[in-house]
Amino acid sequence: AVIAAVDEAISQGLSFGVPCSLEVDLAKEVVGRIPSIEMVRFVNSGTEAVMSAVRLARAATGRDKILKFAGCYHGHVDSLLVKAGSGAATLGLPDSPGVTRGTTQDTLVAAFNDVGEVERTVAKHCDNLAAIIVEPVAGNMGVVQPDEAFLPALREFTNQCGALLIFDEVMTGFRLSRSGAQGLLAVKPDLTTLGKIIGGGLPVGAYGGSAELMNRVAPQGAVYQAGTLSGNPVTMAAGFATLQNLTDEIYEHLQCTTSRLASGIDTMLRTHRVSGVVQQAGSMLTLFFGRDSVRNFEEAKACDAAMYARFFHAMLKRSIHLPPSGLEAWFVSTCHSEAVIDETLAAVDGSLQECSR
Ligand code: PMP
Repeated sequence: AVIAAVDEAISQGLSFGVPCSLEVDLAKEVVGRIPSIEMVRFVNSGTEAVMSAVRLARAATGRDKILKFAGCYHGHVDSLLVKAGSGAATLGLPDSPGVTRGTTQDTLVAAFNDVGEVERTVAKHCDNLAAIIVEPVAGNMGVVQPDEAFLPALREFTNQCGALLIFDEVMTGFRLSRSGAQGLLAVKPDLTTLGKIIGGGLPVGAYGGSAELMNRVAPQGAVYQAGTLSGNPVTMAAGFATLQNLTDEIYEHLQCTTSRLASGIDTMLRTHRVSGVVQQAGSMLTLFFGRDSVRNFEEAKACDAAMYARFFHAMLKRSIHLPPSGLEAWFVSTCHSEAVIDETLAAVDGSLQECSR
């Protein structure tokens, strides 16, 4: 369906340099699915979406500081490449060369799920805190669920001090439910960043929130942000076709398939007496070795990376290509049939047996 939509869009022209009707179609679909988004702006990557949302938050509050969480990755925005998860963490590059002290001096970092540390940091910087940015369900240090009290606390603290709450849903948006992670949570953010799935496989990003906030973005408002190929018709067609095919039944199916995989792996860990835990959120999961649970970046980094490396190669030998880092999420897709899950579980069985010897 996505490729057919892209073929059709391509036949009409690749890029027009003005907004196109497909952009409006996709915007309506996004706004219709995510209650906290009244207006949305398309950009070309998740990185751009985050960069723009942070600029908007600073402009709207007239403040400078951004609080992020260790192990959360928000793209390669200079000011957020501080204790970043994903590839930066895998390569042991928590702070990338080329990022100046000046660009990160307004970045504060706290531990994910540590309400006390957030409270203290917010209290100290309240007058100059523009926003808290968070992956509502973390996926870039492996899958780490927020504790029940964590996101409500972020909402309360930001409300109290007049800062904005940004949910980075580049990974979780339209993956965890038809309205992203926030569709499953009681907490509503002020701004949301999106990417990946809304481009159906083509380069994309988006950010959105209330009309009051989004109207501050140029050309209506003074916060400058633009992009030559943003909202191009081919990407918009791919994203629109993808979202239209993501029905409630699909999410239920993904949840079931992923739970079967997760509980199968969990059983095998115990059978082969391998220490570890499977953490799952919807169609995302991570197998952490050497711990019973992982609640933050420090705990994720304390997992047995050497065991994951052995397991990765044992799985590859059995034709299953996992994420190459133990700090990444596995994503189950609609193409993963029951037979594929069975094949994967058989490979996990053999690999754990091999690695535990
Ligand atoms: N935010 C999150 C939560 C992400 O997972 C990513 C990509 N892994 C990004 C931002 C950056 O997106 P992109 O790679 O499209 O720039």
